[in-house]
Amino acid sequence: MGYLSWFENHAKKHQKIVDKLQHLSDDEVIEYFKWENISQTDVDFCPLFKEGKKCHDMEELNCYLCACPNFRFDDSAPKYKSYCGIDSKDGAKLEHNGIVHQDCSLCQVPHHKSYIKKNFNRDWKKIMKDCYDG
Ligand code: SF4
Repeated sequence: MGYLSWFENHAKKHQKIVDKLQHLSDDEVIEYFKWENISQTDVDFCPLFKEGKKCHDMEELNCYLCACPNFRFDDSAPKYKSYCGIDSKDGAKLEHNGIVHQDCSLCQVPHHKSYIKKNFNRDWKKIMKDCYDG
């Protein structure tokens, strides 16, 4: 699966959950997306939930901004398929067969509640608008 199909599919899943939370305040919606809650209530949101795993080893992991507004991707790029828009000090590059991908496994930027509150919008795609040209 390329980045774009994952992105579009994830956007639909995210919207479906947000739509059912219309009665909640913004803060309550953010709370709902805490890993401890959403991994139980919306098991299909992320493949890791079924295994009881987190993508990042952090205590207060929030899934609202998975993937990350700073992630940049281009499936048609010949070499650099993805990179970090803010060049996070915790990001890294993964190179395989001449193709380079951004490795976010050690970066926690989008998973902190404070960051989510600062960038909050119920429309996930609006927050992710810079992730790709399209
Ligand atoms: S390295 Fe961090 S800030 Fe950069 S795209 Fe990845 S998760 Fe986002």
